[in-house]
Amino acid sequence: MSGNVWREGGCHCGAVRFAVALPEMIEAQSCNCSICERTSFVHIIAPESRFKLISGAEALTSYRFNTGVADHLFCSVCGVKGFYRPRSNPDGWSVNARCLDDRDALDIHIEPFDGRNWEAHAASLAHLSKDGAS
Ligand SMILES: [Zn+2]
Repeated sequence: MSGNVWREGGCHCGAVRFAVALPEMIEAQSCNCSICERTSFVHIIAPESRFKLISGAEALTSYRFNTGVADHLFCSVCGVKGFYRPRSNPDGWSVNARCLDDRDALDIHIEPFDGRNWEAHAASLAHLSKDGAS
């Protein structure tokens, strides 16, 4: 946890608020799969211990497809998907970099992730939800 700073974010209407502990240089992925492309979701994957829901549990709606492992959560009021439980990292969370507060002040490095060929690439993300990963 040393070196990580808790950053807050949320959906558009403010019902859903969350915090995620992030290092100074933040690694993120832009995925081209069928759902991420449609939502422009930019992934910051973190372990369970580095994520907390501050408010809005009652406003969250779940959407599942294909294997049903991923739990695509979004705000039922404004429709924004600020974070979800990813299939690649079911032991952690993926936070949407676009939903962080003051994101222009953060050092976010976005790498492409080929989610259209998910089976061939998902294992490369697994370490990101382990404690001690940065
Ligand atoms: Zn909302």
